Amino acid sequence: MLQFGIDLGGTKTEIIVLDAGGNTLLRRRTPTPAPSYTDIVNNIIQMVKDAAAETAASDFTLGIGIPGAMSPASGLVKNANTTCLIGKDLKGDLERGTGKPVTIANDADCFALSEATDGAGAGYGNVFAVIIGTGCGGGWVVNGGLVSGPNAIAGEWGHNPLQWRSENDSQIDCYCGQQGCLETLLSGPGLRQQAEKETDIDLKAQQWQQRAEGGDAQALEVLNNYYLRLAKALAGVINLMDPHVIVLGGGVSNMPGIYDAVPQLWTDYVFSDTVVTPLRKAMHGDSSGVRGAAWLGAKDSA
Ligand SMILES: [Zn+2]
Repeated sequence: MLQFGIDLGGTKTEIIVLDAGGNTLLRRRTPTPAPSYTDIVNNIIQMVKDAAAETAASDFTLGIGIPGAMSPASGLVKNANTTCLIGKDLKGDLERGTGKPVTIANDADCFALSEATDGAGAGYGNVFAVIIGTGCGGGWVVNGGLVSGPNAIAGEWGHNPLQWRSENDSQIDCYCGQQGCLETLLSGPGLRQQAEKETDIDLKAQQWQQRAEGGDAQALEVLNNYYLRLAKALAGVINLMDPHVIVLGGGVSNMPGIYDAVPQLWTDYVFSDTVVTPLRKAMHGDSSGVRGAAWLGAKDSA
């Protein structure tokens, strides 16, 4: 059976069709219609119909990754930054429109499922994966299946506070209503803001990386401070879940120094005499969200 996946983003909607072996048969993206729920739903239905016609698929699974979550209490969308989705019966509307069962998950969960299925976490039983970009969305996969939980927030690591905080770590207000969430320090914008506090210089994460590669001592210190915060934050994950592997995606995960520095730094905070957990970069890059959505439908119907 073919697997259809949709990655619904704020600006683009992407569809992928995978065969059972994970090979890509079709991949296409369209702009997400301006904030109209009906237009968004109709656009997805049309993309599915077009892809089904093009791949001559009559029997397929359909999974959708969204920038939000499904409320277990109501079955409706919650926590979505594409706010016109909130409170809507997206699952029901798409099932009526496509005639197929639809599985919906948070986009970070789709990322985790993709990497755990045939990416950097393949072959490991307990996988924690996190997208560090404009935010810090995490997902948790055990024995090939997403861990969800009664509140649909398993793996939502970014809205915990930083453990072992130092006095230099900012206590920034987070949009979630709390202060000092990991996301406010570790996301790309968080790195930028914290670095500006340390140096009075306003540069993006990528620009700090470039300066560090040129041997700039101040940039190296900025990155080392960042690595230490990331190590503390991931040590908390290891102490709680002891994953077999941790996978990083998103823009910040492209900083190559992370993969040597962070596992050396987290040993001071993990409650174990040795720490063997590998820290790996995502294999599927920008494709992970949509690939994970496709696996989502397949696993739900298996
Ligand atoms: Zn928060």
